[in-house]
Amino acid sequence: MEDKIKLHDKVFKPYIRHDRIIAAIDDVADKLNRDFYNCPDVPVILCVLNGSIPFTGELLQRITFPCQVISIKMSSYQGTQSTGTVLNVMGLTSSVKGRRVIICEDIVDTGNTIVALKEMLLDKEGAADVRICTLLVKPDVYDKPDKLDYVGMEIPNAFIVGFGLDYDELGRNNKDIYVIDDNPMKKYYILFGPPGAGKGTHAGAIAQKYNLKHISTGELLRAEIAAGTELGKQAKSLIDAGMLVPDSVVEGMIETAFDTVKGVDGFLLDGFPRNLSQAADLDEILDKRGESVTAVVGLMIDDDMIFQRIRGRAIIEGRADDASDETIANRIKTYHTQTEPLIDYYKAAGKYWEVDVDGGTIEENRARVLAKMETIA
Ligand code: 5GP
Repeated sequence: MEDKIKLHDKVFKPYIRHDRIIAAIDDVADKLNRDFYNCPDVPVILCVLNGSIPFTGELLQRITFPCQVISIKMSSYQGTQSTGTVLNVMGLTSSVKGRRVIICEDIVDTGNTIVALKEMLLDKEGAADVRICTLLVKPDVYDKPDKLDYVGMEIPNAFIVGFGLDYDELGRNNKDIYVIDDNPMKKYYILFGPPGAGKGTHAGAIAQKYNLKHISTGELLRAEIAAGTELGKQAKSLIDAGMLVPDSVVEGMIETAFDTVKGVDGFLLDGFPRNLSQAADLDEILDKRGESVTAVVGLMIDDDMIFQRIRGRAIIEGRADDASDETIANRIKTYHTQTEPLIDYYKAAGKYWEVDVDGGTIEENRARVLAKMETIA
């Protein structure tokens, strides 16, 4: 069975395998064959389009008594919700007057569709007898007194697709059945690059465009320092010296963010991971969640430009870690020795993309970064 699938804006996860569906259809066919094997007339198999096409098709291959096949199209669903109003979109393809009818439905949810159809066949179309045969039923939702004569499988109340069932007309052609995934996989992007490359400058635009939570470890730490927390005090002395704070501290802050931030499609990490050991830890953190790094976007500038940009930023923002040439040189050295090896690490995983932001205005570079994201997202 394949992995998760995306149809329009929603993600669906594997739910009922094809072989289980077929086993349920075998059972239904056995029961029908038993009930109709010496039927004095030819029953009508009524396929309710379009969802029941695969079910009816499989069922017909197993039915051993003579039967006529006709179809009708009804609709009560819009998107993932039943509207409560059943529409007869396309009439019966043949008269059922005086005939025994076996309705073949893909799924019975509230039962509005099937009961309206049954009544219409008996009262308006003059059918002699109507039986309901459905591949699936949601017993928690079905609230009608009418008996469901043949049922393949009972399922809980969740929106499913596949094997004929659609989400806004997509998904019918999947041979397995999928259920909507209320907690779809998140995206984990890493904005990478030397200090002063513009990670903080462009992160907001990327995060907004792709509905990501921007996590700047530097900013999280600076917030702790400003609040004067114990963690902040420890971090301050290290940051002032251009050194990295312990991995466990940074990773704890990041995991907390992954756990607590809701309503986003993913995260944009900025300033983490900064070394190979952090990258391995991040892989482990995501692996535990059944997820992985989506892509790494490297913003590239050369060392002269790093100096130029950081000196400029120091004047505007007054950041302690930008204060002196010595600190800047230290940070550049730390970047080359500890952080730069991550490029090969993520290249080897096929997850590294690079944008040249050495020249150009902020707007030009932002456009380049967003254009690169478009090729990845
Ligand atoms: P009811 O009238 O019983 O509430 O709904 C019956 C119809 O709604 C089905 O024939 C099917 O078209 C649609 N439906 C009900 N539940 C689901 C579901 O979980 N997934 C999909 N794709 N369609 C459903």
